[in-house]
Amino acid sequence: PYDVLVVGGGPAGASAAIYAARKGIRTGMVAERIGGQVMDTSAIENFISVKETEGPKLGANLEAHVNEYDVDVMNLQRAKNIERKDDYVELELENGAVLKSKTAILSTGARWRNIGVPGEEEFKNKGVAYCPHCDAPLFEGKHVAVIGGGNSGIEAAIDLAGVVKHVTVLEFAPELKADSVLQDRLYSLPNVTVITSAQTTEITGDDTVNGINYKDRETDQMNHIELQGVFVQIGLVPNTEWLGDDIDQTKMGEIMVDKKGATNVPGIYAAGDCTDSAYKQIIISMGSGATAALGAFDYLIRQAPV
Ligand code: FAD
Repeated sequence: PYDVLVVGGGPAGASAAIYAARKGIRTGMVAERIGGQVMDTSAIENFISVKETEGPKLGANLEAHVNEYDVDVMNLQRAKNIERKDDYVELELENGAVLKSKTAILSTGARWRNIGVPGEEEFKNKGVAYCPHCDAPLFEGKHVAVIGGGNSGIEAAIDLAGVVKHVTVLEFAPELKADSVLQDRLYSLPNVTVITSAQTTEITGDDTVNGINYKDRETDQMNHIELQGVFVQIGLVPNTEWLGDDIDQTKMGEIMVDKKGATNVPGIYAAGDCTDSAYKQIIISMGSGATAALGAFDYLIRQAPV
């Protein structure tokens, strides 16, 4: 059995695996895709001390760093169930294997909810973006749309309005869903337009995004706006559907952790975007991966030998 079994190979999982292995304990890592969301990212400019890098490059560096240590890496493997037994945590993989470990660190990340209209996939990283903290500066002086009028959409619009020339918010429902204090802030800004009852139908472009089409749901009229960027803000979904009910989650499905990264189940820890952490970023995920590994180590040294 492992001492620490990390599930997920993104920034959080890689960090957890390295911190665990550096304690000289038996460490394994199961990942569907090493690198995680970073592999879908182009420019990264907020990974502190690295002025600029690209997602796949950072992903390759994560993998190389993990491989510097004695970590049993099981790439391209998907976990499908985890259970706390008397002495061990058992992790079942989709290929049927069952792995045993004294502790586990869940770091299966999250995914942005896609809007699923023509152009979204085609122009990802070419004007279609999901993370305002990451990509707002790429749109300096440009006109962008934010799809989604919930808290994350309106926070994104306020954030973007400080950097870009103009922001158009498109909300499907007849009114914005965000907290009223955010709406007040939004409406106080001079360079923001809000369109409600707007159903986005297509993101248009040639090499990069050049516009958005939407249907006015009250009149059924089709409209086109010329712009250079679209931020899709209709939710971040944690990859936790495979977990049973034993592990406490928020109503959004985020794993609830304490300040050491511990879940409610003894020996099971979690880190990164799959948790209820306030912000979802590479540097934050790495920090929480380190925290969870140190938390798991603290737990291990307090257990009777088995
Ligand atoms: P993830 O990166 O999501 O990794 C999850 C890992 O778990 C992956 O290895 C995945 O394959 C694996 N996994 C999932 N389910 C299972 C399963 N059932 N079994 C086994 N393995 C599983 N952040 C920044 O700080 N700066 C940026 O510039 C930036 N740009 C971004 C651009 C885009 C397009 C996107 C999508 C995100 C961006 N982010 C950025 C956010 C950042 O990528 C995430 O915060 C970070 O990757 C989270 O790390 P994580 O390890 O928690 O999860």
